[in-house]
Amino acid sequence: QPSAPADPFAGLNPEQRAAVEHDMGAGMVRPLLVVAGAGSGKTNTLAHRVAKLILAGSDPQRILLLTFSRRAANEMGQRAAGVLQRVLGTSTAVGSLPWAGTFHSIGARLLREYAGRIGLEASFTIHDRADSEDLMGLVRQDVGLGASNGQKRFPLKGTCLAIYSRVVNSREPLADVLQSTFPWCSEWEEQLKRLFGAYVDAKQEQNVLDYDDLLLFWAEMASDPELGPELGALFDHVLVDEYQDTNRLQAAILQGMKPDGRGVMVVGDDAQSIYSFRGATVRNILDFPKQFGEHTRMITLDRNYRSTQPILDASNAVIAAALERHAKTLWTDKAATGKPQLVLIPDEAEQARWVCNRVLEQREAGIRLTQQAVLFRAASHSAALELELVRRNIPFVKFGGLKFLEAAHIKDVLAMLRFAQNPAGRVAGFRVVQLIPGIGPATAARLLDAVAEAADPVAAIEAFPAPPRAQGEWEQFTALFRTLRTTGLRWPLEIELVRDWYLPHLERLHDDAPVRAADLDQLVALAGGYGSRENFLTELTLDPPEATSDRAGPPLLDEDYLILSTIHSSKGQEWKAVHVLNVVDGCIPSDMATGSAEDIEEERRLLYVAMTRAKEHLHLIVPNRFFIKQQAQMGDRHVYAQRTRFVTPVMLKHFEECVWTNAETLQVRKPVPDSVRMMVRERARNAWK
Ligand code: ATP
Ligand code: MG
Repeated sequence: QPSAPADPFAGLNPEQRAAVEHDMGAGMVRPLLVVAGAGSGKTNTLAHRVAKLILAGSDPQRILLLTFSRRAANEMGQRAAGVLQRVLGTSTAVGSLPWAGTFHSIGARLLREYAGRIGLEASFTIHDRADSEDLMGLVRQDVGLGASNGQKRFPLKGTCLAIYSRVVNSREPLADVLQSTFPWCSEWEEQLKRLFGAYVDAKQEQNVLDYDDLLLFWAEMASDPELGPELGALFDHVLVDEYQDTNRLQAAILQGMKPDGRGVMVVGDDAQSIYSFRGATVRNILDFPKQFGEHTRMITLDRNYRSTQPILDASNAVIAAALERHAKTLWTDKAATGKPQLVLIPDEAEQARWVCNRVLEQREAGIRLTQQAVLFRAASHSAALELELVRRNIPFVKFGGLKFLEAAHIKDVLAMLRFAQNPAGRVAGFRVVQLIPGIGPATAARLLDAVAEAADPVAAIEAFPAPPRAQGEWEQFTALFRTLRTTGLRWPLEIELVRDWYLPHLERLHDDAPVRAADLDQLVALAGGYGSRENFLTELTLDPPEATSDRAGPPLLDEDYLILSTIHSSKGQEWKAVHVLNVVDGCIPSDMATGSAEDIEEERRLLYVAMTRAKEHLHLIVPNRFFIKQQAQMGDRHVYAQRTRFVTPVMLKHFEECVWTNAETLQVRKPVPDSVRMMVRERARNAWK
């Protein structure tokens, strides 16, 4: 006889259960804040709560789940669906949650729906960071701030965008942002104001939104006395994961939609806040009870289900040394394996070899590659390792620091689609029109002006007198433009047409055309997964595929591959074995971050995030020499590295120190008791007496 399905809620501990069942069935669901350390089940608890809500009769369409990435949203949806199926039986099909995604993607969706009511055109296209920089660059020229006029140079377009973005996201005045974060630009305050005014106008004229607009317009809508309540009424429950990495604007969105916090649940860990460089602020967590009033309920979780005790001891020690104390000490009853290893290695090449050896060894011991990850501070740090992996035929996928969408040929094809979607968009227009030989910036500008003024963009382009050199290519271009604009082709047929049109240009422009053509095929294949052009462009811009593998395309789902990831992109995830590269001063903390005490503290939290990804095996690798890229004039060079300052001598007792010599053998350093360490130090200090 079939056994009754196990109760999926039975395994929750009392605090988790309290969060999952919080005000269930009550008339007013009070705001709930769960603050808890890494691996304590925050995300898991959220997923269980979603399932519980649905079981208790909530309409899934009225649940909004905000996560850090699309991947996280999908995973959470799957976890919730899994719980539901265990309760309801496998015959019940539980679809994914309709309203789960990042703040940006949900914002885009709401803005399209509400466009007409807030003076936007629903066909808006979205600029990614690079596009936004380009537009900032164009506007900079237009307002006459582009060229250096012999005096001190006006900030670069990227810097201008960063300042603009910071002002918008932090909701602080320009002057304050300049003073606190971009002091070297303070003298340009007046000019920047002028520039930003023109930038905002340009976006409006061209019917484009940048990333920040998705939050900004949403926040403005939410704080509007008429629209705010209407938005809030769309959802009974709003749940947010990784709340420590949200910014002021995101908190304002919550506040606007749910002024009394009814149905709002956020979870986060202040010790894992690692996005302040993008304007995120832990204050959002700290201020949550103030924001939503005294009926806010707070729950903490301190039992860790992810890592072994030695890994937790080491991680706790690292974070306990933080300037701002995080009063959480995690514990677990997971059976202990050895201590985390601190592996001392001659240089980066040896580091790459060692990691490969270790990864293979662990695979032999039964840990699949997908259960192992190599984490690093910056995307470029894995270069040596990637070479070694390829040499040894170890498949891998790399997350974070993606270059795929930044490649010129991919951008060209996307620009054509975007131009067809929104002919008023200058950045896409400029890019694509200038692919045609004989059309330079001046002609392109005239053409785009004509398109912008015309009621019918297709007619305007067809009527435009193309320069003689452009003739053949021009006709193909206009024909394609007409097709894309007028014939409602089935998606993804459109992108195939664009690719075919683009291939001759590709051969003309690039020596490695065949390799790039393969990328385009990959893009076309990817496009098939989206329902429409608009959907594809929006999703791709907001949540670009995170992973790249080697050029041959992503591995199949059932294949085994090693995960390479920046620490930032590893958020919320876990692996049986974790290797952290370059745990040296200069990498963690990064050279770029050693300005202020806050910067350093964020780097410490970053190391904490990396360490707490590990379930059973954790290796921090310390190459004795490593390579740094320097300013162009100085050339690259090797430097001698120090173990990261975040692992102090007193913390060494939490690690097993190992030394890797080129002889392929790993010698475990005998642990030295604290007493001996102190004695040696004291003797040395007193030697002069
Ligand atoms: P992070 O801060 O890194 O995002 P988290 O607090 O979100 O971590 P989860 O990812 O939800 O933690 O959970 C960590 C691990 O612990 C997961 O493998 C999860 O399945 C497991 N876990 C959580 N709660 C329990 C429980 N009550 N019993 C058994 N396993 C649990
Ligand atoms: Mg989590």
